[in-house]
Amino acid sequence: MAEINILIIEDDQESAAALERTLKEVGYNVWTTENPKEGLEWFKDTNFALVISETRSARMNGIELTRNVHKISPDTNVIVLTFYSFIAQAIEAMEAGAYGYITKPLNTSEIRIVVERALERYFLLSVNVEKDYYAEMAVLDGLTGLYNRRYFNELMILEFSRLKRADDVFSLLMIDIDNFKTYNDTKGHPAGDKLLKEAAQVFQGVVREVDSVCRYGGEEFVVILSRTDKEETQVVAERLRAQVNLYLAATVSIGIACAPQDGKNSQELIEKADTALYEAKRTGKNKFCAAK
Ligand code: GH3
Ligand code: MG
Ligand code: MG
Repeated sequence: MAEINILIIEDDQESAAALERTLKEVGYNVWTTENPKEGLEWFKDTNFALVISETRSARMNGIELTRNVHKISPDTNVIVLTFYSFIAQAIEAMEAGAYGYITKPLNTSEIRIVVERALERYFLLSVNVEKDYYAEMAVLDGLTGLYNRRYFNELMILEFSRLKRADDVFSLLMIDIDNFKTYNDTKGHPAGDKLLKEAAQVFQGVVREVDSVCRYGGEEFVVILSRTDKEETQVVAERLRAQVNLYLAATVSIGIACAPQDGKNSQELIEKADTALYEAKRTGKNKFCAAK
């Protein structure tokens, strides 16, 4: 795998150690310093894909740091660390060009996901695009280009960790292509593969940018709809079903479950969506059912 260098500028040792551990586990080269000036010096000899820095550092705030990094290396993404109560400063850093922020106390899944997304962007923007980058990171499914099941599991953990306030919600669509075995048997496996790719495109066209479409396995897909309640989710499911009827040579059945009302963790929610999907299959296919 290509060497990916990440620079951490953080004077809180506990937080620096947590970041370093999480990122090293994934296989990145991690450089850590308390001193922003020293960190910027390292740019002379090393390319950094990403800089992660506390936004309230007394020696250089997030805005200054972002500007200084971009002066030396315009493609390098900056992520600022902030306590929620100081989020305004993180937003200011983003206005100055920072890619995003991570809130403290640090959450391992959040670190990994924000970092992975920032790196995706870095490699897309970078002149030396690594063609195999996505495959190497094992985030995407090879056939459809959707997020794979491993990444779906991480996204679920992140969504659950975001459910903090009483009115926070998100929903899950579990989608299964109807009679796909027959389709494969009559049209052939390559035609089946082609249909899976087309299905992926239709699903992505229906949902919003912030929603995540994943291939769960075989001819099963899941969509995570951020901040979407059950009522809105049913509208999305119906639109999705209708678009599939328009554009694909197959139909789909869909199960809906909504967190936290239908499940308090990933496993519970998936089970509920799966049961609803089974209900849709049992009662005629080409339809959706919501968990009760
Ligand atoms: P149902 O309407 O109840 O969902 O029936 P089904 O035929 O869709 O379901 P079943 O689980 O019996 O068959 C799924 C089929 O999906 C079987 C397998 O050959 C096919 N399949 C799984 N993964 C792939 C793939 O990557 N490519 C292709 N072409 N076919 C696949
Ligand atoms: Mg199936
Ligand atoms: Mg099926």
